[in-house]
Amino acid sequence: MSKPKQETKTRTGTRTMEFVASLDSKQPSGPIEQRWDKHRFEMKLVNPANRRRYTVIVVGSGLAGGAAAATLGEQGYNVKCFCYQDSPRRAHSIAAQGGINAAKNYRNDGDSIYRLFYDTVKGGDFRARESNVYRLAQVSVNIIDQCVAQGVPFAREYGGYLDNRSFGGAQVSRTFYARGQTGQQLLLGAYQALERQIAAGSVKMFSRTEMLDLVVVDGRARGIITRDMVTGKIERHVADAVVLATGGYGNVFYLSTNAKGCNTTAIWRAHRKGAFFGNPCFTQIHPTCIPVTGDHQSKLTLMSESLRNDGRIWVPKKKGDSRPASQIPEGERDYYLEERYPSFGNLVPRDVASRNAKHVCDQGRGVGSSGLGVYLDFADSIKRLGKPKIVERYGNLFDMYAQITGEDPYETPMRIYPAIHYTMGGLWVDYNLMSTIPGLFVAGEANFSDHGANRLGASALMQGLADGYFVLPYTIANFLAQIKPGGLDTSDAAFAQAEAEVAGRTQKLLKLKGEHTVDSFHRELGKIMWDECGMARNEAGLRKALKRIPELRSEFWENVRVPGEGGELNQELEKAGRVADFLELGELMCMDALTRAESCGGHFREESQTEDGEALRDDENCAFVSAWAFTGNLSKPELHKEPLEFEYVKPSQRSYK
Ligand SMILES: Cc1cc2nc3c(=O)[nH]c(=O)nc-3n(C[C@H](O)[C@H](O)[C@H](O)COP(=O)(O)OP(=O)(O)OC[C@H]3O[C@@H](n4cnc5c(N)ncnc54)[C@H](O)[C@@H]3O)c2cc1C
Repeated sequence: MSKPKQETKTRTGTRTMEFVASLDSKQPSGPIEQRWDKHRFEMKLVNPANRRRYTVIVVGSGLAGGAAAATLGEQGYNVKCFCYQDSPRRAHSIAAQGGINAAKNYRNDGDSIYRLFYDTVKGGDFRARESNVYRLAQVSVNIIDQCVAQGVPFAREYGGYLDNRSFGGAQVSRTFYARGQTGQQLLLGAYQALERQIAAGSVKMFSRTEMLDLVVVDGRARGIITRDMVTGKIERHVADAVVLATGGYGNVFYLSTNAKGCNTTAIWRAHRKGAFFGNPCFTQIHPTCIPVTGDHQSKLTLMSESLRNDGRIWVPKKKGDSRPASQIPEGERDYYLEERYPSFGNLVPRDVASRNAKHVCDQGRGVGSSGLGVYLDFADSIKRLGKPKIVERYGNLFDMYAQITGEDPYETPMRIYPAIHYTMGGLWVDYNLMSTIPGLFVAGEANFSDHGANRLGASALMQGLADGYFVLPYTIANFLAQIKPGGLDTSDAAFAQAEAEVAGRTQKLLKLKGEHTVDSFHRELGKIMWDECGMARNEAGLRKALKRIPELRSEFWENVRVPGEGGELNQELEKAGRVADFLELGELMCMDALTRAESCGGHFREESQTEDGEALRDDENCAFVSAWAFTGNLSKPELHKEPLEFEYVKPSQRSYK
């Protein structure tokens, strides 16, 4: 395997020689199916008796962080775990509905580790690292065993085997599920494992504690600065390694399917301290969400992709047809996905389904009062399978839809429209999940790894748990085995400086006493991002956004109003800090989208499309991971490129026809 062409230093100042950062992805060589095994064997171990001498900070208690903290605790390390919710079991992972992929091939329908690897590389539009994706497919089978052993109540079929269903971008059924609550059930499994370690004393849990900065000493990540969200107390925490498993940044768009609390602060602060940001513009727009109804909304609701197993997507053939669905005869309906993509039909990947929904709505054939909706119709499935079967499969999702829209989806088709859902971008990490700051590891949705330019459904849970249960415990041990534990305490000047910066920023926000709410700035940023860096992007729009976002950021710092005080529970203050970071990240996303002058996956540059409107990649010039370094000037970050090589899955124009 050839080495990346570029070696680059990060900008955190002093750095000891052995910790010079580079964009070396550290992928092992050799046949792809042997790389992880070989690497695991070659990595160093920490003697069980020595493990308690090392402290590891894990920020995040969702599937990635919860799994990592529990496993490292079980192995005997001294772990400190942080989350901003009141309990680790409230992490956003709890919202995941549809399922988790694994190459178990219980259905005997042609699945294999290689096929999951292939589907994921192709589904990501050839913008992911092959070695990482293969490892993900390999450990997917271990995840299911681990979760079953924890008691996760996966659905089963009559013979007792775990049941599977299909998700987009695959022609096999490999998605394991627990009704529409897969994330919740998996999180309960990880949470039990974590609680066990908390009770055993190997993990100390800090709930309602927000990380507001990373502390870097001599080029290594050595700790974090936190704020107690109830008392406002700012504290220092030192460690030998830090893991960020802090989730995705989809809320930069204001409206998304993410929980309101999801934010970018942890990874953005680490980026400012030297961690490169990978592919920031790669965001996922999910095709099946409840359409926006007005300006009053602060959140959008996902209708799980699993519904596309039995629901048929259509719009009227005629423009402006405002008849209720029941009055539109079969011959006047356009089942556009089935028509256009006969092999995958309604189960095309998310980017393809979203773009097609936008296309038919742009043609004036959208449904609902806004015209921004398409039907997801279960009438045929109810006729074929009977209502009880549909209730059994999707009952809680149908109830949720009925409660939100006041319509009965058993009687009238659901109306759905694409919405921001997931971020494939995140901090750049090497094969060991280590960022460009030595000792800083990044897991789950917070890193950029594995999904390329488009994530396949049910693969985020797989990646989070793979990272937490099966990758980090090895790669962190390898890192720790090469350093001496401790040797630093929180009296170090770097901690004092980071703490002063956090306190200063908090005070500044409180003192501004401007005229506009935090939400008003967030809403405007979200609209810019959705209009110019959303489902479709073009050069003129991105340039417009790049002009407006810095202006908006200045207005925020002059005129935002944050009521209340710092030494108390203050949700407006929490929000203000997060929105300030979104205002910086948004600019980087637009810059990344502008630089990548190709279409790939969820990144659709209007200038780069095939004759029939599909995303057109430019493999010659754009087969790279973009990794951005912070330079101190937000409008002038430095772009580094990790070249991508495809030895096994040869890049081709993606076709789901
Ligand atoms: C509605 C919905 C449904 C989904 N359904 C599926 C599905 O069916 N299948 C699938 O594979 N994927 C699904 N996904 C995606 C998947 O749920 C997420 O990608 C995944 O759960 C993220 O897990 P995580 O551990 O990386 O982060 P999270 O679960 O978001 O956890 C982040 C953790 O970090 C903590 N944190 C964040 N910032 C800070 C900070 N500054 N200080 C302290 N703590 C911090 C939080 O408190 C939390 O504990 C869905 C997503 C949504 C929005």
